[in-house]
Amino acid sequence: MSKSIVLLPGDGIGVEVIHEAEKLIDCICDLYGVEIKTEKHLVGGASLDASDIPVKDEVIEACKKADAVLLGAVGGPKWDNNPPEKRPEKALLRLRKDLGLYNNLRPVTVFSSLKNASPLRPEVVDGVDLLVVRELTGGLYFGQPKEIIEKDGEEVGIDTMTYTVTEIERIAIAAFEAAKGRSKKVTSVDKANILASSQLWRKTVTRIAEQYPEIELEHMLVDNCAMQLIRNPSQFDVILTENMFGDILSDEAAMLTGSIGMLPSASLGDGTGMYEPVHGSAPDIAGKNMANPLATLASTALMFRYSLDEESIASDIEAAIAKVLNAGYNCMDMSRHARKVLSTSEMGEKIIETLKDIHAA
Ligand code: NAD
Repeated sequence: MSKSIVLLPGDGIGVEVIHEAEKLIDCICDLYGVEIKTEKHLVGGASLDASDIPVKDEVIEACKKADAVLLGAVGGPKWDNNPPEKRPEKALLRLRKDLGLYNNLRPVTVFSSLKNASPLRPEVVDGVDLLVVRELTGGLYFGQPKEIIEKDGEEVGIDTMTYTVTEIERIAIAAFEAAKGRSKKVTSVDKANILASSQLWRKTVTRIAEQYPEIELEHMLVDNCAMQLIRNPSQFDVILTENMFGDILSDEAAMLTGSIGMLPSASLGDGTGMYEPVHGSAPDIAGKNMANPLATLASTALMFRYSLDEESIASDIEAAIAKVLNAGYNCMDMSRHARKVLSTSEMGEKIIETLKDIHAA
């Protein structure tokens, strides 16, 4: 059966890394006999330049109809002084909200050949293979009221941290389901010693855990988790947490690998899933064929796994990435840890060549 994908290259290196993903998808169609239709749309700064809006309604509609969305990155200095409604990042928030993407998955794997790239000692990060499951549409970022008011003669900024049982249940189920196919441990991170929303979070996660007796559940306070990620990161398998804690902890966890150009993400809801590299549009290297496309190619693997129901293609792409890295190839951002430094397009081609070998074997 034919699948459809919307490609949103965005700005800066987003365009270059999505081009490599497109080549990979074309190769997969030939190699595995799957039929995938792709359509490409403008988003972020590119959309602002063309239509004076970060993302058009028709693009949102196309994304809703597709099986998956693959996004590059948005933003750049050209639009930095735009008013809030005309910022490229507005496109991301709108996509997350309109597609109902409440479940953000960020796998963090330290490849053994790259353990020296981490800012931590190699023996601390060796074997790290964790997954951050972050709630993406609730908590402090969306709770109301959210405003700056005038009170007792001065300005007061207000944000509201709210979570409903339904919101906690669905993200907890996502985390336990993910843990089933991994090392079967969930660490639920909260601030239950202080926050009411965290107390409800802990109570609800504990109840959901009863449906998963094979999965070990531990609760950890967010401040302790921030410390443990540096002290002993390999103790973690799945980290389940709310929106803001997840925003901060997933960036901390990402840096365990020492690279931003290799980290993928998936954002899932009840409809179309969206896949994107963790990095931004990197204006400093845009257009120079220097960007590392691996985060986007690994996001493409997640897309085959979660939205296209093609687990074997997903694991073949991941095996190709691991094989290329372990053979000593990498891009400019990891040049100190590579025996051979490749450009964006050379890395894309190397992954395709290796995938063909894996498929033929
Ligand atoms: P960035 O991730 O774009 O770049 C940070 C540094 O990492 C830069 O030195 C860059 O060259 C390097 N880098 C990033 N990705 C790389 C890759 N694939 N290969 C090699 N090197 C890579 O973050 P920034 O500089 O803070 O932001 C630049 C723009 O991107 C801003 O406009 C920001 O708003 C936007 N941004 C977008 C997203 C997104 O679209 N999801 C995320 C973060 C930042």
